[in-house]
Amino acid sequence: GDRGMVGRLGGDEFKVVLPGRWDRPKLGVLADAIIATLSQPYHIEEAQVVIGASVGIALCPDDATSRDALVRNADLALYAAKDAGRGVHRFYSSDMHAEAEDRRQLEDDLRTALADGGLELVYQPLVGAKNGKIVGFETLLRWNHPARGPVSPALFVPIAEDAGLIGPLGEWVLRTACAVAAQWPSSIRIAVNVSPIQFSNPAFPGIVMNALASSALAPQRLELEITESCFINEGEKTDQMFAQLKAIGVRLALDDFGTGYSSLGYLRKAPFDKIKIDQSFVRALEEGGSAHAIVKAITTLAAALDMETLAEGVETQELFDILRNDGCDMIQGYLISRPVPGTQVQNLLAFQHF
Ligand code: C2E
Ligand code: MG
Ligand code: MG
Repeated sequence: GDRGMVGRLGGDEFKVVLPGRWDRPKLGVLADAIIATLSQPYHIEEAQVVIGASVGIALCPDDATSRDALVRNADLALYAAKDAGRGVHRFYSSDMHAEAEDRRQLEDDLRTALADGGLELVYQPLVGAKNGKIVGFETLLRWNHPARGPVSPALFVPIAEDAGLIGPLGEWVLRTACAVAAQWPSSIRIAVNVSPIQFSNPAFPGIVMNALASSALAPQRLELEITESCFINEGEKTDQMFAQLKAIGVRLALDDFGTGYSSLGYLRKAPFDKIKIDQSFVRALEEGGSAHAIVKAITTLAAALDMETLAEGVETQELFDILRNDGCDMIQGYLISRPVPGTQVQNLLAFQHF
């Protein structure tokens, strides 16, 4: 309307400038209205498309008086909104500067760690639900920060993604994991997590082929774990990427299934070999309720689509038994083993042959 101005800042960022004095509650209501309006589904050709929005708010003169500072502070508030799970608004507060600085420092340290060999890989066994035998290992990144101690990949992988580091980082993981797995018995597979950013890079199939070739690992021993967020840009390019990866001969697993949109459409279309049921469902099984029915439905659906199922985060024998009875093919979790360094993989394998 005539209350303010809206402009595009670049990419998918927009700015709303409201002249005059606004009180915070009113601004909050307006921000929520903007989010709600943008979040309505859009109909494009035959498809229904949903996007979200987050809003960061900075006030003049409370938060800043210069144009640059005002924009920067609104941006910090926007980051806080995104961090809070998106779809919400946040007002700028001065401690956001400290957080941004902290994140920037972590980003620098991560760059150094990647260059200086400060990152490590650990491997967690994936076992058959029927016989408990190890069929493969999932590769998990570890960063022991020189000052902070262990930093979770759940924290630093998103930082690497924002900082444009995930390309080289992911390539290092892939190459190292393939080289390590090439030393294991040929029946044992290796799973590697792939960020949506790696997946959307047209050079990715080449990177995979290269890692396989230089380690002499058979393609069918490599399983790439992809999350549903890869489908955000669903379209020809995604289909092409799937086709190229399948042509190489690697296996594809859908990670964290059940946490996102869990659309049946892409399950039918994408050539997954395995569905990994997210830990949140496995945990919910203990509380009874609908989780049980959902897990059963997933395993039935997967079997009909000729895909395997694996349950993540299994910590108790009771859960193991429930999941096996519900038709899960594979189990991963602390009950079997926590992730171990590569040197201990042989021990785990030797132990199971007893
Ligand atoms: P994810 O791929 O779903 O990996 C499984 C996570 O569950 C791992 O956490 C693993 O240590 C943890 N976990 C396994 N069993 C249990 C259990 O019984 N109980 C509990 N509470 N947790 C269990 P981690 O290693 O902290 O990794 C977190 C996430 O970070 C991964 O989730 C994955 O999304 C990401 N990540 C890890 N390594 C890489 C990597 O090399 N590349 C990329 N792109 N992402 C990675
Ligand atoms: Mg995974
Ligand atoms: Mg997972």
